Amino acid sequence: MRVLLVEDDDGVAQALLEVLSAHGHTPIRVARGSDALIAHRSADVVLLDLGLPDGDGMEVLRKLRQVADTPVVVLTARGDERSVVRGLRLGADDYLVKPVRLAELLARMDVVTRRAAARGSSADEVVRVSDVDIDVRARSVTVGGEPVSLTAKEFDLLAVLAARAGTAVSRQQLMDEVWGDAFVAVSRSLDVHMTQLRAKLGRPGLLTTIRGFGYRLEV
Ligand code: CA
Repeated sequence: MRVLLVEDDDGVAQALLEVLSAHGHTPIRVARGSDALIAHRSADVVLLDLGLPDGDGMEVLRKLRQVADTPVVVLTARGDERSVVRGLRLGADDYLVKPVRLAELLARMDVVTRRAAARGSSADEVVRVSDVDIDVRARSVTVGGEPVSLTAKEFDLLAVLAARAGTAVSRQQLMDEVWGDAFVAVSRSLDVHMTQLRAKLGRPGLLTTIRGFGYRLEV
């Protein structure tokens, strides 16, 4: 597969490039986050270092997730739990702490690309809940066959909930996925958008508030 390696350390990059090529992959290496945001388009999977010369890899990950679903495996020296959780919440598919065990890396790459392929095929579907149809690709919603006009953020919120319909989604996760962060101001914004979304959909039972946790789209 085509592998985008985002790594500023030449020694680490060279070793990884050799292993990837030896296992039949086609690696491309960039050393800067800004280059990664361009080069990801031609990659099947991204291996992302966090300590980059032009900024934090977490920021690269956040921006990447706004435009692409390409699977991302974060490779980093930061093994602390907070960094790991933040990376996963920002949409990393997996997280490996350096020094990376190469056989494990190759196995994880296979897992995340398989998972992404499965996700891609289900993303084509329209999520239907009673008489509400949510077309994730077309970004359109109908209630009882009538189109409902949502703002971009309202739709993003609904899409995140629809992707996990029937399961509870935390406020933190919604804020991370829709706004890219979880500041207090965003927390208020989430409530406002959820209220508007409920009013526009006009189906009171559809979006359940789970007190102290988040929301669930009922199926
Ligand atoms: Ca680095």
